[in-house]
Amino acid sequence: MTETTGTSKLIALFGPPGSGKGTQAEYLVRDYDLYHLSTGDLLRAEIKQGTPLGRQADEVIKSGALMPDAIIQGMIRNQVNSVLGEKAGILFDGFPRTAAQADFLDGLLAELGLAMKAVVFLAIDAEKLIDRLTGRRTCRNCGAVYHVKSSPSRREEVCDKCGGPLYQRPDDNRDSIAERLAAYERQTYPVLQAYENKGLLVRVDGDQSREAVYRDIAGALDRILAIPGRD
Ligand SMILES: [Zn+2]
Repeated sequence: MTETTGTSKLIALFGPPGSGKGTQAEYLVRDYDLYHLSTGDLLRAEIKQGTPLGRQADEVIKSGALMPDAIIQGMIRNQVNSVLGEKAGILFDGFPRTAAQADFLDGLLAELGLAMKAVVFLAIDAEKLIDRLTGRRTCRNCGAVYHVKSSPSRREEVCDKCGGPLYQRPDDNRDSIAERLAAYERQTYPVLQAYENKGLLVRVDGDQSREAVYRDIAGALDRILAIPGRD
């Protein structure tokens, strides 16, 4: 069955806020011919299209409640089914987020005769992330993102692209960042642990340049995908 779909490079990418996960996802999707399955994008698309799941999700968001697993899982199921055969693989980004979601995904892939090939985790120290995130400045006008140390604007507090004013997002302060990181770790740890037990976890040092991080990821994936029976 795996042979008939052609979509066999199934990879999940994990990284805490500030780890540069978005950039690495772009590189992976480009170089490995992957469909980028991001839960956030998926939710926005379903809501915009007004699908039954999208309408349910919209109500949940408006009520301020946590998104139930059933809605997320329904969207993932539809999406995986609809992209099979389109690309060489799928990059799961932001999913699975909990141990229950990971079990669901395993089951769904098994139904389709597929299996996760690798789970990449961008490991980076909390203090480093706090440093990265507190230095972030965003253009109020065009949304361009700068960093006071690693990619400063030419003129302080002024956007290079449009001349708009730069500001620090209110949730980019030290306390709320530390809180977000702790929540991320609490939630993600059991998922990573489960994949580690299955021998699928690829831990990459995220405290390097984006090019070096990508070199490490690609090196590991190339080895894994070349193993007979795993591709
Ligand atoms: Zn700007």
